[in-house]
Amino acid sequence: MSSSKNVVILGASFSGLPMAHYLIKYLPADYTVTLVNPSTHLFWNIAAPRAIVAPELLGKNHADLFLPFLPAFEKYTAGRFRFVQGKAVSSNPAVNTVTVQTHSDNAKGGESREVVLNYAHLIVATGSREAGGSWGFKATGNGSHVDTQSTIAATRSSLTAAKTIVISGAGATGIEVVGEIASFYEGQGKHITLVSSSAQPLSMVPETVGKAARYHLEKMGVQICDNARVANESKTPGAGTMLTLSTGETITADVHISTWGMTPNTEFFARELLDSAGWVTTDKYMRTPAHKNVWALGDVTHWGNRKVSTIEAMHNIVTVNLLATINGKSEAELQEYKHKDGLMLLVPMGAKFGRATAYLFGMKIWGWLAWLVKGRTYMVELNRPLADGLITSGRTKI
Ligand SMILES: Cc1cc2nc3c(=O)[nH]c(=O)nc-3n(C[C@H](O)[C@H](O)[C@H](O)COP(=O)(O)OP(=O)(O)OC[C@H]3O[C@@H](n4cnc5c(N)ncnc54)[C@H](O)[C@@H]3O)c2cc1C
Repeated sequence: MSSSKNVVILGASFSGLPMAHYLIKYLPADYTVTLVNPSTHLFWNIAAPRAIVAPELLGKNHADLFLPFLPAFEKYTAGRFRFVQGKAVSSNPAVNTVTVQTHSDNAKGGESREVVLNYAHLIVATGSREAGGSWGFKATGNGSHVDTQSTIAATRSSLTAAKTIVISGAGATGIEVVGEIASFYEGQGKHITLVSSSAQPLSMVPETVGKAARYHLEKMGVQICDNARVANESKTPGAGTMLTLSTGETITADVHISTWGMTPNTEFFARELLDSAGWVTTDKYMRTPAHKNVWALGDVTHWGNRKVSTIEAMHNIVTVNLLATINGKSEAELQEYKHKDGLMLLVPMGAKFGRATAYLFGMKIWGWLAWLVKGRTYMVELNRPLADGLITSGRTKI
Protein backbone atom coordinates (compact mmCIF):
# COMPACT_ATOMS: atom_id res chain seq x y z
CA MET A 1 0.00 0.00 0.00
CA SER A 2 1.25 3.45 -0.87
CA SER A 3 2.10 5.27 2.36
CA SER A 4 1.11 8.60 0.86
CA LYS A 5 -2.46 7.50 0.21
CA ASN A 6 -3.13 5.26 3.17
CA VAL A 7 -5.50 6.20 6.01
CA VAL A 8 -4.82 4.18 9.18
CA ILE A 9 -7.64 3.83 11.72
CA LEU A 10 -6.72 2.57 15.20
CA GLY A 11 -9.64 0.87 16.96
CA ALA A 12 -12.67 -0.88 15.46
CA SER A 13 -15.53 -0.24 17.82
CA PHE A 14 -18.38 2.30 17.70
CA SER A 15 -16.04 5.07 16.50
CA GLY A 16 -13.50 3.32 14.27
CA LEU A 17 -15.57 0.68 12.48
CA PRO A 18 -18.20 2.94 10.85
CA MET A 19 -15.35 5.34 10.00
CA ALA A 20 -13.57 2.60 7.99
CA HIS A 21 -16.69 1.79 5.95
CA TYR A 22 -17.48 5.46 5.39
CA LEU A 23 -13.98 6.30 4.20
CA ILE A 24 -13.71 3.35 1.83
CA LYS A 25 -16.93 4.56 0.29
CA TYR A 26 -16.09 8.28 0.03
CA LEU A 27 -12.28 8.60 -0.23
CA PRO A 28 -10.80 9.07 -3.72
CA ALA A 29 -10.40 5.66 -5.37
CA ASP A 30 -6.59 5.65 -5.08
CA TYR A 31 -6.73 5.90 -1.26
CA THR A 32 -6.57 2.80 0.92
CA VAL A 33 -7.80 2.19 4.46
CA THR A 34 -5.95 0.14 7.09
CA LEU A 35 -7.90 -0.81 10.20
CA VAL A 36 -6.09 -1.97 13.34
CA ASN A 37 -7.89 -3.69 16.22
CA PRO A 38 -7.09 -6.53 18.65
CA SER A 39 -10.43 -8.23 17.96
CA THR A 40 -12.19 -9.36 14.79
CA HIS A 41 -15.57 -8.95 16.51
CA LEU A 42 -17.67 -5.92 17.46
CA PHE A 43 -18.66 -6.02 21.15
CA TRP A 44 -22.00 -4.43 22.09
CA ASN A 45 -20.61 -3.49 25.49
CA ILE A 46 -23.72 -1.43 26.26
CA ALA A 47 -25.33 -4.75 27.20
CA ALA A 48 -22.44 -5.83 29.44
CA PRO A 49 -24.33 -5.13 32.71
CA ARG A 50 -26.82 -7.86 31.77
CA ALA A 51 -24.30 -10.09 29.95
CA ILE A 52 -22.25 -10.53 33.16
CA VAL A 53 -25.40 -11.84 34.87
CA ALA A 54 -27.60 -13.63 32.34
CA PRO A 55 -26.97 -12.93 28.62
CA GLU A 56 -29.96 -15.02 27.56
CA LEU A 57 -32.17 -12.28 29.08
CA LEU A 58 -31.05 -10.01 26.23
CA GLY A 59 -33.68 -11.78 24.12
CA LYS A 60 -33.54 -13.66 20.86
CA ASN A 61 -30.53 -11.70 19.57
CA HIS A 62 -28.39 -12.31 22.67
CA ALA A 63 -25.77 -14.13 20.57
CA ASP A 64 -25.19 -10.83 18.72
CA LEU A 65 -23.27 -9.44 21.73
CA PHE A 66 -20.08 -10.14 19.72
CA LEU A 67 -20.31 -10.12 15.93
CA PRO A 68 -17.56 -10.67 13.34
CA PHE A 69 -17.02 -7.47 11.34
CA LEU A 70 -14.52 -8.60 8.67
CA PRO A 71 -17.00 -10.30 6.29
CA ALA A 72 -18.62 -6.90 5.60
CA PHE A 73 -15.33 -5.65 4.09
CA GLU A 74 -15.19 -8.44 1.50
CA LYS A 75 -17.49 -6.49 -0.83
CA TYR A 76 -14.89 -3.76 -1.45
CA THR A 77 -12.44 -3.68 -4.35
CA ALA A 78 -9.37 -5.83 -3.61
CA GLY A 79 -6.48 -3.80 -2.21
CA ARG A 80 -8.58 -0.93 -0.85
CA PHE A 81 -8.81 -2.35 2.67
CA ARG A 82 -6.39 -4.06 5.00
CA PHE A 83 -7.05 -5.34 8.52
CA VAL A 84 -4.24 -5.79 11.03
CA GLN A 85 -5.25 -7.72 14.12
CA GLY A 86 -3.25 -6.25 16.96
CA LYS A 87 -2.64 -3.16 19.02
CA ALA A 88 -0.70 0.01 18.26
CA VAL A 89 2.27 0.02 20.64
CA SER A 90 4.10 3.16 19.54
CA SER A 91 3.78 5.98 17.07
CA ASN A 92 6.01 8.52 15.42
CA PRO A 93 3.87 11.35 14.05
CA ALA A 94 6.96 13.23 12.85
CA VAL A 95 7.46 10.59 10.14
CA ASN A 96 3.84 9.39 9.87
CA THR A 97 4.29 5.88 11.23
CA VAL A 98 2.60 3.74 13.82
CA THR A 99 3.92 0.41 15.10
CA VAL A 100 1.48 -2.42 15.74
CA GLN A 101 2.08 -5.55 17.81
CA THR A 102 0.09 -8.17 15.99
CA HIS A 103 -2.15 -10.57 17.85
CA SER A 104 -0.63 -14.01 18.40
CA ASP A 105 -3.26 -16.60 17.70
CA ASN A 106 -1.97 -19.44 19.83
CA ALA A 107 -4.77 -21.73 18.69
CA LYS A 108 -3.44 -21.42 15.12
CA GLY A 109 0.22 -21.44 16.12
CA GLY A 110 0.59 -17.80 15.03
CA GLU A 111 3.35 -15.62 16.41
CA SER A 112 3.14 -12.01 17.45
CA ARG A 113 5.32 -9.55 15.53
CA GLU A 114 5.76 -5.83 15.09
CA VAL A 115 4.47 -4.19 11.92
CA VAL A 116 5.24 -0.58 11.01
CA LEU A 117 2.41 1.15 9.16
CA ASN A 118 2.89 4.34 7.13
CA TYR A 119 0.01 6.74 6.82
CA ALA A 120 -1.09 9.88 5.06
CA HIS A 121 -3.69 10.38 7.79
CA LEU A 122 -4.06 8.63 11.15
CA ILE A 123 -7.40 8.34 12.95
CA VAL A 124 -7.20 7.42 16.63
CA ALA A 125 -10.34 5.65 17.90
CA THR A 126 -8.82 3.43 20.60
CA GLY A 127 -11.38 4.34 23.26
CA SER A 128 -11.12 3.55 26.93
CA ARG A 129 -11.08 0.63 29.34
CA GLU A 130 -12.33 -0.08 32.85
CA ALA A 131 -10.27 1.65 35.51
CA GLY A 132 -11.40 -0.37 38.49
CA GLY A 133 -10.83 -4.01 37.50
CA SER A 134 -11.56 -6.42 34.71
CA TRP A 135 -15.22 -7.45 34.59
CA GLY A 136 -15.93 -7.46 30.84
CA PHE A 137 -17.51 -4.01 30.52
CA LYS A 138 -15.00 -3.26 27.74
CA ALA A 139 -12.49 -5.36 25.74
CA THR A 140 -10.22 -7.12 28.21
CA GLY A 141 -7.09 -9.32 28.21
CA ASN A 142 -5.36 -9.14 24.85
CA GLY A 143 -8.47 -7.37 23.49
CA SER A 144 -9.75 -10.30 21.42
CA HIS A 145 -13.42 -11.27 21.69
CA VAL A 146 -12.30 -14.63 23.08
CA ASP A 147 -10.53 -12.98 26.03
CA THR A 148 -13.44 -10.61 26.67
CA GLN A 149 -15.94 -13.47 26.54
CA SER A 150 -13.81 -15.40 29.08
CA THR A 151 -13.75 -12.37 31.38
CA ILE A 152 -17.54 -12.02 31.18
CA ALA A 153 -17.95 -15.73 31.92
CA ALA A 154 -15.58 -15.48 34.91
CA THR A 155 -17.52 -12.50 36.30
CA ARG A 156 -20.76 -14.44 35.88
CA SER A 157 -19.34 -17.47 37.72
CA SER A 158 -18.08 -15.36 40.60
CA LEU A 159 -21.51 -13.67 40.93
CA THR A 160 -23.24 -17.05 40.92
CA ALA A 161 -20.98 -18.30 43.72
CA ALA A 162 -21.05 -15.09 45.80
CA LYS A 163 -23.26 -14.62 48.85
CA THR A 164 -22.25 -11.00 49.42
CA ILE A 165 -21.82 -8.61 46.49
CA VAL A 166 -20.78 -4.97 46.63
CA ILE A 167 -21.04 -2.58 43.70
CA SER A 168 -19.25 0.74 44.15
CA GLY A 169 -20.17 3.70 41.98
CA ALA A 170 -23.75 4.90 41.46
CA GLY A 171 -23.47 6.34 37.94
CA ALA A 172 -25.40 4.78 35.06
CA THR A 173 -23.13 1.72 34.81
CA GLY A 174 -23.20 1.10 38.57
CA ILE A 175 -26.99 1.32 38.74
CA GLU A 176 -27.42 -0.96 35.72
CA VAL A 177 -24.98 -3.51 37.13
CA VAL A 178 -26.46 -3.60 40.64
CA GLY A 179 -29.99 -3.58 39.18
CA GLU A 180 -29.28 -6.52 36.86
CA ILE A 181 -27.71 -8.55 39.67
CA ALA A 182 -30.45 -7.74 42.19
CA SER A 183 -33.22 -8.46 39.70
CA PHE A 184 -31.78 -11.79 38.54
CA TYR A 185 -31.01 -13.06 42.06
CA GLU A 186 -34.09 -11.54 43.74
CA GLY A 187 -35.25 -13.70 46.63
CA GLN A 188 -32.24 -16.01 46.42
CA GLY A 189 -30.57 -14.86 49.65
CA LYS A 190 -27.66 -12.87 48.19
CA HIS A 191 -26.75 -9.75 50.14
CA ILE A 192 -26.22 -6.90 47.66
CA THR A 193 -24.84 -3.48 48.60
CA LEU A 194 -24.41 -0.33 46.51
CA VAL A 195 -21.78 2.15 47.67
CA SER A 196 -22.69 5.60 46.37
CA SER A 197 -20.47 8.65 46.81
CA SER A 198 -23.47 11.00 46.61
CA ALA A 199 -26.69 11.47 48.58
CA GLN A 200 -28.75 10.10 45.68
CA PRO A 201 -27.77 7.62 42.93
CA LEU A 202 -27.29 9.12 39.43
CA SER A 203 -26.24 12.44 40.97
CA MET A 204 -25.38 13.91 37.53
CA VAL A 205 -29.10 14.26 36.67
CA PRO A 206 -32.07 15.70 38.60
CA GLU A 207 -32.85 14.01 41.92
CA THR A 208 -36.15 12.50 40.77
CA VAL A 209 -34.29 10.22 38.33
CA GLY A 210 -32.06 8.87 41.12
CA LYS A 211 -35.04 8.57 43.42
CA ALA A 212 -36.69 6.22 40.95
CA ALA A 213 -33.48 4.13 40.84
CA ARG A 214 -33.45 3.97 44.64
CA TYR A 215 -37.10 2.89 44.68
CA HIS A 216 -36.47 -0.08 42.34
CA LEU A 217 -33.20 -1.13 43.97
CA GLU A 218 -34.49 -1.02 47.55
CA LYS A 219 -37.60 -2.91 46.49
CA MET A 220 -35.28 -5.67 45.23
CA GLY A 221 -33.46 -5.70 48.58
CA VAL A 222 -30.33 -3.71 47.67
CA GLN A 223 -28.75 -1.92 50.63
CA ILE A 224 -27.51 1.53 49.58
CA CYS A 225 -24.67 3.25 51.46
CA ASP A 226 -25.03 6.93 50.57
CA ASN A 227 -22.26 9.54 50.74
CA ALA A 228 -19.59 6.84 50.99
CA ARG A 229 -16.55 5.86 48.94
CA VAL A 230 -14.40 2.75 49.05
CA ALA A 231 -11.29 4.04 50.83
CA ASN A 232 -9.44 0.75 51.08
CA GLU A 233 -9.80 -2.75 49.70
CA SER A 234 -7.87 -5.75 50.99
CA LYS A 235 -8.25 -9.18 49.48
CA THR A 236 -7.63 -12.37 51.46
CA PRO A 237 -7.37 -15.50 49.31
CA GLY A 238 -10.43 -17.67 50.01
CA ALA A 239 -11.98 -15.10 52.36
CA GLY A 240 -13.19 -12.46 49.89
CA THR A 241 -12.57 -8.76 50.11
CA MET A 242 -12.64 -6.41 53.08
CA LEU A 243 -13.75 -2.91 52.09
CA THR A 244 -13.22 0.10 54.31
CA LEU A 245 -15.52 2.97 53.41
CA SER A 246 -14.79 6.67 53.77
CA THR A 247 -17.43 6.70 56.53
CA GLY A 248 -15.26 4.31 58.58
CA GLU A 249 -17.67 1.41 58.05
CA THR A 250 -16.21 -1.93 56.92
CA ILE A 251 -17.96 -4.43 54.66
CA THR A 252 -16.85 -7.87 53.57
CA ALA A 253 -17.73 -9.01 50.08
CA ASP A 254 -17.27 -12.20 48.10
CA VAL A 255 -17.30 -9.99 45.01
CA HIS A 256 -16.66 -6.25 44.75
CA ILE A 257 -17.24 -4.62 41.37
CA SER A 258 -16.14 -1.00 41.06
CA THR A 259 -17.81 0.80 38.19
CA TRP A 260 -16.30 4.27 38.39
CA GLY A 261 -13.70 5.72 36.10
CA MET A 262 -12.32 4.89 32.68
CA THR A 263 -8.68 4.73 31.53
CA PRO A 264 -7.70 6.03 28.07
CA ASN A 265 -6.16 3.53 25.63
CA THR A 266 -3.37 5.88 24.61
CA GLU A 267 -0.13 4.31 25.91
CA PHE A 268 1.16 4.07 22.31
CA PHE A 269 0.71 7.78 21.67
CA ALA A 270 3.18 10.66 22.05
CA ARG A 271 2.81 12.16 25.55
CA GLU A 272 2.71 15.72 24.21
CA LEU A 273 -0.45 14.93 22.21
CA LEU A 274 -2.35 13.96 25.38
CA ASP A 275 -3.92 15.99 28.17
CA SER A 276 -2.81 15.54 31.79
CA ALA A 277 -5.19 12.58 32.26
CA GLY A 278 -3.95 10.84 29.10
CA TRP A 279 -6.82 11.61 26.69
CA VAL A 280 -6.00 12.77 23.12
CA THR A 281 -6.28 16.54 22.82
CA THR A 282 -7.83 17.71 19.57
CA ASP A 283 -8.51 21.14 18.12
CA LYS A 284 -12.00 22.23 17.06
CA TYR A 285 -11.51 20.40 13.74
CA MET A 286 -10.82 17.10 15.61
CA ARG A 287 -7.10 17.02 14.68
CA THR A 288 -4.19 17.02 17.08
CA PRO A 289 -2.88 20.61 17.16
CA ALA A 290 0.72 19.58 16.48
CA HIS A 291 0.04 17.11 13.65
CA LYS A 292 -2.75 18.11 11.31
CA ASN A 293 -2.95 14.68 9.67
CA VAL A 294 -3.69 12.98 13.02
CA TRP A 295 -7.38 12.89 13.97
CA ALA A 296 -9.27 11.43 16.92
CA LEU A 297 -12.86 10.68 17.86
CA GLY A 298 -14.90 8.90 20.49
CA ASP A 299 -14.05 8.03 24.08
CA VAL A 300 -10.32 8.54 23.51
CA THR A 301 -10.63 12.31 23.01
CA HIS A 302 -10.29 14.94 25.72
CA TRP A 303 -13.83 16.22 25.15
CA GLY A 304 -15.57 14.03 27.75
CA ASN A 305 -19.23 12.90 27.90
CA ARG A 306 -17.92 9.47 26.88
CA LYS A 307 -21.02 7.89 25.38
CA VAL A 308 -21.89 6.26 22.07
CA SER A 309 -24.35 9.10 21.61
CA THR A 310 -21.45 11.60 21.59
CA ILE A 311 -19.65 9.87 18.70
CA GLU A 312 -21.95 10.78 15.79
CA ALA A 313 -21.16 14.52 15.88
CA MET A 314 -17.43 13.74 16.01
CA HIS A 315 -17.74 11.23 13.14
CA ASN A 316 -19.42 13.90 11.00
CA ILE A 317 -16.67 16.45 11.66
CA VAL A 318 -13.77 14.03 11.11
CA THR A 319 -15.21 12.68 7.86
CA VAL A 320 -16.10 16.09 6.40
CA ASN A 321 -12.77 17.67 7.39
CA LEU A 322 -10.59 14.73 6.38
CA LEU A 323 -12.19 14.54 2.94
CA ALA A 324 -11.95 18.34 2.57
CA THR A 325 -8.24 18.25 3.49
CA ILE A 326 -7.53 15.43 1.03
CA ASN A 327 -9.42 17.35 -1.65
CA GLY A 328 -7.16 20.38 -1.11
CA LYS A 329 -9.57 22.64 0.81
CA SER A 330 -8.11 25.27 3.14
CA GLU A 331 -8.48 25.36 6.94
CA ALA A 332 -11.04 28.15 6.60
CA GLU A 333 -13.32 25.70 4.82
CA LEU A 334 -13.23 23.06 7.59
CA GLN A 335 -16.16 22.52 9.95
CA GLU A 336 -15.94 23.05 13.71
CA TYR A 337 -16.92 20.45 16.28
CA LYS A 338 -19.46 21.75 18.82
CA HIS A 339 -19.24 19.60 21.92
CA LYS A 340 -22.37 18.98 23.96
CA ASP A 341 -22.17 17.79 27.56
CA GLY A 342 -25.93 17.27 27.84
CA LEU A 343 -26.71 13.84 29.23
CA MET A 344 -29.23 11.32 28.02
CA LEU A 345 -29.60 8.38 30.33
CA LEU A 346 -31.66 5.24 29.93
CA VAL A 347 -30.95 3.02 32.92
CA PRO A 348 -32.53 -0.43 33.12
CA MET A 349 -32.39 -2.42 36.37
CA GLY A 350 -33.21 -5.93 35.25
CA ALA A 351 -35.31 -7.42 32.49
CA LYS A 352 -38.67 -7.16 34.25
CA PHE A 353 -41.27 -4.73 32.86
CA GLY A 354 -40.87 -1.15 34.05
CA ARG A 355 -37.68 -1.56 36.09
CA ALA A 356 -35.80 1.41 34.67
CA THR A 357 -35.31 5.13 35.05
CA ALA A 358 -34.37 7.71 32.45
CA TYR A 359 -33.44 11.30 31.73
CA LEU A 360 -34.03 12.43 28.16
CA PHE A 361 -34.28 15.86 26.53
CA GLY A 362 -33.83 17.59 29.90
CA MET A 363 -36.54 15.73 31.81
CA LYS A 364 -37.26 12.54 33.70
CA ILE A 365 -38.95 9.95 31.53
CA TRP A 366 -41.27 7.16 32.69
CA GLY A 367 -39.52 3.97 33.71
CA TRP A 368 -41.74 1.81 31.50
CA LEU A 369 -40.67 3.82 28.45
CA ALA A 370 -36.97 3.42 29.33
CA TRP A 371 -37.60 -0.30 29.79
CA LEU A 372 -39.33 -0.45 26.40
CA VAL A 373 -36.49 1.34 24.59
CA LYS A 374 -33.49 -0.20 26.37
CA GLY A 375 -34.49 -2.49 29.23
CA ARG A 376 -35.82 -5.38 27.15
CA THR A 377 -32.70 -6.11 25.10
CA TYR A 378 -30.15 -3.35 25.81
CA MET A 379 -30.65 -2.66 22.08
CA VAL A 380 -28.27 -5.54 21.21
CA GLU A 381 -30.11 -5.93 17.89
CA LEU A 382 -28.32 -2.76 16.69
CA ASN A 383 -24.97 -4.52 16.80
CA ARG A 384 -25.65 -6.34 13.52
CA PRO A 385 -26.17 -3.35 11.19
CA LEU A 386 -23.11 -1.74 12.86
CA ALA A 387 -20.93 -4.82 12.40
CA ASP A 388 -22.17 -5.10 8.82
CA GLY A 389 -21.04 -1.53 8.11
CA LEU A 390 -24.56 -0.37 7.23
CA ILE A 391 -24.91 2.40 9.82
CA THR A 392 -22.89 4.72 12.02
CA SER A 393 -23.19 4.45 15.80
CA GLY A 394 -25.77 7.26 15.58
CA ARG A 395 -27.77 5.04 13.18
CA THR A 396 -27.15 7.10 10.04
CA LYS A 397 -27.01 5.01 6.87
CA ILE A 398 -23.46 4.75 5.50
C1 LIG B 1 -20.82 -0.92 30.98
C2 LIG B 1 -20.96 0.23 30.03
C3 LIG B 1 -22.20 0.56 29.52
C4 LIG B 1 -22.34 1.63 28.63
N1 LIG B 1 -23.59 1.94 28.17
C5 LIG B 1 -23.74 2.99 27.34
C6 LIG B 1 -25.05 3.36 26.87
O1 LIG B 1 -26.04 2.76 27.24
N2 LIG B 1 -25.14 4.40 26.00
C7 LIG B 1 -24.04 5.10 25.57
O2 LIG B 1 -24.19 6.04 24.76
N3 LIG B 1 -22.79 4.78 25.99
C8 LIG B 1 -22.62 3.74 26.86
N4 LIG B 1 -21.37 3.41 27.30
C9 LIG B 1 -20.19 4.15 26.78
C10 LIG B 1 -19.70 3.48 25.48
O3 LIG B 1 -19.38 2.13 25.73
C11 LIG B 1 -18.48 4.20 24.91
O4 LIG B 1 -18.80 5.57 24.76
C12 LIG B 1 -18.08 3.60 23.57
O5 LIG B 1 -17.67 2.27 23.73
C13 LIG B 1 -16.96 4.41 22.91
O6 LIG B 1 -16.66 3.86 21.67
P1 LIG B 1 -15.22 4.05 21.00
O7 LIG B 1 -15.27 3.35 19.70
O8 LIG B 1 -14.84 5.48 21.01
O9 LIG B 1 -14.21 3.31 22.01
P2 LIG B 1 -14.20 1.81 22.54
O10 LIG B 1 -15.58 1.24 22.49
O11 LIG B 1 -13.49 1.85 23.84
O12 LIG B 1 -13.36 1.01 21.48
C14 LIG B 1 -11.99 1.17 21.28
C15 LIG B 1 -11.48 0.06 20.37
O13 LIG B 1 -10.08 0.25 20.17
C16 LIG B 1 -9.39 -0.95 20.50
N5 LIG B 1 -8.04 -0.59 20.96
C17 LIG B 1 -7.63 -0.28 22.23
N6 LIG B 1 -6.31 -0.01 22.25
C18 LIG B 1 -5.88 -0.16 20.97
C19 LIG B 1 -4.60 0.01 20.35
N7 LIG B 1 -3.52 0.37 21.05
N8 LIG B 1 -4.51 -0.21 19.02
C20 LIG B 1 -5.62 -0.57 18.28
N9 LIG B 1 -6.84 -0.73 18.84
C21 LIG B 1 -6.97 -0.53 20.15
C22 LIG B 1 -10.25 -1.60 21.57
O14 LIG B 1 -9.96 -2.97 21.69
C23 LIG B 1 -11.63 -1.32 21.00
O15 LIG B 1 -11.99 -2.25 20.01
C24 LIG B 1 -21.20 2.36 28.22
C25 LIG B 1 -19.94 2.03 28.73
C26 LIG B 1 -19.81 0.99 29.63
C27 LIG B 1 -18.45 0.64 30.19
